[in-house]
Amino acid sequence: MQIIKKIDELRTIINQWRKDGLTVGLVPTMGYLHEGHKSLIDRAVEENDRVVVSDFVNPTQFGPNEDFESYPRDINADAALCEAAGASLIFNPEADEMYDGALTFVDMNKITKVLCGKTRPIHFSGVCTVVSKLFNIVTPDRAYFGQKDAQQLCVIKKMVKDLNFGIEIVGCPIIREADGLAKSSRNTYLSSEERKAALCLSRSLNIGKDMINSGETSAAAVVGRIKEEIEKESLAKIDYVEMVDLNQLESLETIQKPLLCAMAVYIGKTRLIDNFIME
Ligand code: AMP
Repeated sequence: MQIIKKIDELRTIINQWRKDGLTVGLVPTMGYLHEGHKSLIDRAVEENDRVVVSDFVNPTQFGPNEDFESYPRDINADAALCEAAGASLIFNPEADEMYDGALTFVDMNKITKVLCGKTRPIHFSGVCTVVSKLFNIVTPDRAYFGQKDAQQLCVIKKMVKDLNFGIEIVGCPIIREADGLAKSSRNTYLSSEERKAALCLSRSLNIGKDMINSGETSAAAVVGRIKEEIEKESLAKIDYVEMVDLNQLESLETIQKPLLCAMAVYIGKTRLIDNFIME
């Protein structure tokens, strides 16, 4: 698997693909790839002639007390997964290659200030900036994002519309472990006891989903029941659980579709996110 570190080198390769009339898909990741990432790569390989997987732990999306330094990294394992999945190359720049002397950042109002944005105030500016840069470097026809990060997917779709990127954004479903835990590079932080405790996220979401399917119309009742289920777990500490409309991410009083029920929960020191969408 070809691992490209330099922007100019990547541009040369992509220019040649373009001259050859090939379509290009982009899968932006922070590496330490798992089946969730692989599902995005698989879809991109199906739909494009060439697929670039970016593998970059982006410093600008981490707050000062977050896990940038300790975030897991394994480029060799990532290369093997990308090779097996049929990706064309990995773009794995150093932070200096991406940000040396940068003074320009992409920011967004409103939908970046709610949910994860409340406790991670600079996060989405970092995401919008790095994804804009990747879009400008790779100039993909399509880019693939997981519903696991539902707010991020919503933010990226809005950014592409607002800034006229002209790139198709493809959202892909959440891939879970057999017992329901959403796959995440951060699951590696969990001890075996915490790993069991972490099931309270998917379990409580399933209870919430069942309530809505059985006719519950009060968002507060569903959110309350989800929180109650999580609070039974002594290792869990809720950051937020919220029911919002899927487009504006505004709080719902009455259950109305399309909706997003999203949560962030600390299991020990590890902050995990999960959600469900009803269209
Ligand atoms: P990350 O490396 O965590 O920044 O994730 C890169 C991309 O993979 C994002 O678009 C995520 O939403 C997506 N992703 C991560 N985990 C999963 C999962 N369990 N299922 C589907 N997509 C995922």
